[in-house]
Amino acid sequence: MAVSDQQLVYVVTGASRGIGLEYVSQLLQRGHKVIAAARNPQKAKGLTSLAAKYGDALTLVTLDVADSATIKAAVASVSDSHPGGVDVLINNAGISGTIVKSSEQTEEEFRDILMINTLGPFLVTQAFLPLIRKGSKKQIVNISSTLGSIGEEAKMLGPEANEQLLVMASNQVGYRASKAALNAVSVALAVELKKEGITVTSQCPGWVDTDMGSSASDTLGIDRPPLDTPTSVAAQLKVIDGLTLEKSGTFFNHEGLVVLY
Ligand code: NDP
Repeated sequence: MAVSDQQLVYVVTGASRGIGLEYVSQLLQRGHKVIAAARNPQKAKGLTSLAAKYGDALTLVTLDVADSATIKAAVASVSDSHPGGVDVLINNAGISGTIVKSSEQTEEEFRDILMINTLGPFLVTQAFLPLIRKGSKKQIVNISSTLGSIGEEAKMLGPEANEQLLVMASNQVGYRASKAALNAVSVALAVELKKEGITVTSQCPGWVDTDMGSSASDTLGIDRPPLDTPTSVAAQLKVIDGLTLEKSGTFFNHEGLVVLY
């Protein structure tokens, strides 16, 4: 087991499967303490088997990012179990919604996506701030998407567009808007919290073969996601390891390259 120099406390939301579960697994392998937050952690087989393997290093908490009561209860329980605070909060939970043309996005689903992908991580961050202030690393990472990059999307109006990119780009307006708004949340918090030594970034995991990542391929008949979860998360952790306060407010991809907002 590669134990890093310092044992840190990480909170990962949406830890039941996909990228979130892989974050939990790799952080535990590195010897850190992890609080895995999920809607139904006891029903997530991946999490319960990690709990059996790692014991006290892993704490499972119930947290639905769309339900403020569960956020408050989770923070109260983490305050008791980890009185020294939280070093890194990874706001990973998210939904893509149905893969439909932007012109066909329903109001109800658009609201749900904004709740889970934008307001949810904002409320989680607000609630965990007192614990992050106590921690030593003081990092907040919002898992975003290059699909939320207005700058990248706008390129599809110019000569860079090709048929496959146009099919992808004309879909998922709710998801794109939610991640663009999440990026705005990252920058607003980065500006306010810098004086407290708290780093806030947005980070895209790349296109990863998870339930979410593969749904676009299946629905649109396009290529499969090129990245598996271990590769994406190992790369993302390198980016997080390298974060400094000077980089606060930046939008990174999984390789640490800066993405346009
Ligand atoms: P998955 O669909 O595989 O997993 C999504 C996770 O989010 C699950 O753990 C799910 O929990 C959780 N979740 C959904 N709604 C809520 C909620 N209301 N409260 C708490 N947890 C919730 O997706 P990925 O692992 O692929 O995605 C993880 C993050 O990465 C997301 O933010 C996504 O937008 C982002 N991303 C993913 C990309 C990809 O290619 N996969 C590309 C770019 C960004 P449950 O099991 O309870 O449903």
